[in-house]
Amino acid sequence: MAKKIHLCLARMSEAGLEKKYIQEAMETKWVAPLGPNVDAFEADLRNFIGQGKEVVVLSSGTAAVHLSLIACGVGYGDEVIVQSFTFCASSHPVMYLGATPVFVDSEKGSWNMDPDLLEEAIKDRIAKTGKKPKAIMPVALYGMPYEIERIMEIGKRYGIPVIEDAAEGFGSRYKGQVLGTFGDYGILSFNGNKMITTSGGGALICPDRESWTKMMWYATQARESYPYYQHEEIGYNYRMSNICAGIGRGQMTVVNDHIAHHHHVQKLYEELFKDVKGITVHVQPNDAYDSNYWLTTITLDSDLKVKGQENAYKTIVTGPIGGALGVIHPATTAVTDCQPNDNVEAMRVALSDADIEARPVWKPMHKQPVYKNAPAYVNGVSEEIFKKGLCLPAGPWVEDEDVKRIVDTIKASIV
Ligand SMILES: *Cc1c(COP(=O)(O)O)cnc(C)c1O
Repeated sequence: MAKKIHLCLARMSEAGLEKKYIQEAMETKWVAPLGPNVDAFEADLRNFIGQGKEVVVLSSGTAAVHLSLIACGVGYGDEVIVQSFTFCASSHPVMYLGATPVFVDSEKGSWNMDPDLLEEAIKDRIAKTGKKPKAIMPVALYGMPYEIERIMEIGKRYGIPVIEDAAEGFGSRYKGQVLGTFGDYGILSFNGNKMITTSGGGALICPDRESWTKMMWYATQARESYPYYQHEEIGYNYRMSNICAGIGRGQMTVVNDHIAHHHHVQKLYEELFKDVKGITVHVQPNDAYDSNYWLTTITLDSDLKVKGQENAYKTIVTGPIGGALGVIHPATTAVTDCQPNDNVEAMRVALSDADIEARPVWKPMHKQPVYKNAPAYVNGVSEEIFKKGLCLPAGPWVEDEDVKRIVDTIKASIV
């Protein structure tokens, strides 16, 4: 039987350091949301990202987004500008705070936040509400950097802080500088499917020790220093456990190997798809960009004919798709008013039948029913990519022969 190929599965270091650090945690009784692994993992991250930044490790990337918004003073009734083309964890925490996300569409080069549209949105929000948005959040979709210099310039000019959602872009760089270190705050995720994992976890990159201390305080229930529990502000239980941090420490020894592997897989896809008409591999727009290529993404021309596309979306999906075991809310309709083209769905099914996990690119937030009332500044770019795009496996378990099998399966599915 052929090997099942996943989008991006975690892989532990050959040296088995993750196991060693977990074992040490157990033997020294540091089985808590603090301890030597937590300190060492934070130090490893600080060294890796540079720029004199501080890092708080947390229970998830979503927690990091939530705390970054609090750090920027986001509260009830405020607005936050968020890249629309993203995973829901960028915008949901805005809602947790009773604030409103204002979605900004993408530019074609990077697929990330369009700086022109960003400025238009800022001007229009000020004109309409009399208030400035509280933060700007670009997202490194599939690891690809954003037009960070222009976004930072706009943020500075309007006096609005920038939060970089680099959850998918750990180790990606722009002009040599690691993503997450340009903005006022930066988000990293160590979920099981990201560049490195702690099983579940994330980090908040902070500008200095003072903000690090404050974020750490919020992440530990905002306790005042009395001998008894005394609370003057609302806090959260968001710290990373010393067990998870042990996995993170081990993973930091292979992060550069992982990035190199993702680059290698991307190059192989580019080569193998070179002569395939109707399929375009998404690549970085110029040399300032240095993507980690977390996932390789392709777009299918609308007129590309795929076997079985006349049967796309004929049945309602009720079980989990691929590895998405958390999807337990069954769909009630086979179609929605905004979905990938039939040829993309047929291609996903063909790959799935061949034990290859592929996934449509993320559906833009401004097309999500839950955000139907959120303001959006759109140019059609993310919606078009959503209809044509497909994510392909690229993780540390994907070997050259797997990439060949994936490309061959795709080629064989074209009519
Ligand atoms: C994964 C992800 C997050 C959140 O990370 P978790 O660790 O899964 O909570 C945030 N933003 C984006 C764009 C992501 O892909």
